[in-house]
Amino acid sequence: MRINYDLSELGAAARERIEESLTQAKILYLLDKETLSIDKSDEVKVDEIISATESIEEFFEAAQSEARAVRSGTVGRACELCGSRPAASLSLRRQVGMVIVMRQYEVDAVLCSPCAERSYVDFQKQTAIKGWTGVRSALMNPVMLSANLVNIRRHREQINQLRRSA
Ligand SMILES: [Zn+2]
Repeated sequence: MRINYDLSELGAAARERIEESLTQAKILYLLDKETLSIDKSDEVKVDEIISATESIEEFFEAAQSEARAVRSGTVGRACELCGSRPAASLSLRRQVGMVIVMRQYEVDAVLCSPCAERSYVDFQKQTAIKGWTGVRSALMNPVMLSANLVNIRRHREQINQLRRSA
């Protein structure tokens, strides 16, 4: 017995993701324009795949409408960690120095004041502890520490401006 799903409500990108997931799950399917046809025995798995894709779509739509509202100035940006406002962009870097390999971590996020300060302290601590092992790291570390300091100061100014204008 075959089950048909009408996927016309979903965007082309979502349909592509569903096809990808079906292929990965080794589910046999037929996609005729916007109608997906599968065997009844795969119904539960296909339901899962489609609902997962739908929630991703909803998430992106919500993020996009939020971004539109921010651009049009009707609402300020919210912190990516806790959702508070005001929030401003903050970019922090740290590195884990090893003798040969040097890894660098970077975050770029819109954060409210408490989350930004916490992330900043955390990054500076991590950099200070782990960052001194390799020779290259030792050279790069002060650069990163001061770049982070510059960025957190800029973040503080932006938050203050947002508070004044609110
Ligand atoms: Zn926050």
